[in-house]
Amino acid sequence: MTTIYVTRKIPETGITLLKGKGFELDISTKDGVLTKDELVTALKAKPYDGVLCLLTDPINGEIFDAVPSAKIFANYAVGFNNVDVEEAKKRGITITNTPGVLTDTVAEHTFALLLALAHRVAEGDAFTRAGKYEGWAPELLLGTDIKGKTLGILGAGRIGSRVAEQAVKGFAMKVVYYDVKRNEEFEKAHNAEFRATPEEVLKEADFVTVHVPLLDSTTHLINKERLAVMKKGAFLINTSRGPVVDENALVEALKGGVIRGAALDVYENEPKLAEGLSECRNAILTPHIASATDETRGAMSRIAAENLIAFFDGQVPPNKVS
Ligand code: NAD
Repeated sequence: MTTIYVTRKIPETGITLLKGKGFELDISTKDGVLTKDELVTALKAKPYDGVLCLLTDPINGEIFDAVPSAKIFANYAVGFNNVDVEEAKKRGITITNTPGVLTDTVAEHTFALLLALAHRVAEGDAFTRAGKYEGWAPELLLGTDIKGKTLGILGAGRIGSRVAEQAVKGFAMKVVYYDVKRNEEFEKAHNAEFRATPEEVLKEADFVTVHVPLLDSTTHLINKERLAVMKKGAFLINTSRGPVVDENALVEALKGGVIRGAALDVYENEPKLAEGLSECRNAILTPHIASATDETRGAMSRIAAENLIAFFDGQVPPNKVS
């Protein structure tokens, strides 16, 4: 029988699918992320054939050593920066992810943040709950319109494209973008204009949204210098990965009025926040929930399971990254 270790409870869809195919599953019962030692101990318990892991599990040589029998690690996420892919390649271990199904949901969350920033939704909520609302006033919590404004997209992949579609079709925004690969299909579909450097996008955009993977080349893509290039009235949104933004530099920029506001779903040292970030009233902070809907987390569970099933059927898993 094929045995799989699942590092944390996930929605049932994929679990049911795997059990239906006769897989034997051991699922961590801890209500939280396993520490490295806990994960190593759990993996040493049996000669597991595969592992279903999460983006919060660092998967590297030490983990592979703990379970040499496992020839596949199915990551329950589209991002796979938690996995040492080079080490997996050297050892002939297959890595899979769950792309595509998160795209619409993460794009919607990005737009929820964009709208909330522009219309000061979080500040208005806090203000009202605090009992400060004393009646309608002409200049109370003035925000900014979205229609006709320029959206700057860094990373015009799946999520960036869906964000562009919402911006253009829903809010008549203009889209400018930077990507390491120019994407003419994206330009045509969204009437988007390519800029040759991130700086050009940052200079021009009223809202900047980041949708790159976390790589060495994208770590601190948004840093102090680039924040300084942004318009004083502009907003930054990051739903990609925390280290893409230098969070300390962002706190300084928010406090110093270098930009008008920011919304983050991801953090440089999750779940910790940079010092001072939570005091910034011009920041909206969500706890890495951009893909957290019933539909999407269920679909991710199904896809992770389908990757495992295909692998053990002797096929190339549909979402093999290495
Ligand atoms: P994708 O691979 O379709 O798109 C990424 C784009 O970034 C590509 O077009 C690529 O060419 C571009 N890119 C790479 N390096 C770049 C650089 N240095 N500068 C500019 N562009 C660069 O990925 P996707 O499905 O759109 O997802 C993007 C990222 O979003 C994922 O890697 C993941 O880390 C993150 N994500 C976060 C959540 C969340 O819960 N907050 C959920 C899903 C995905």
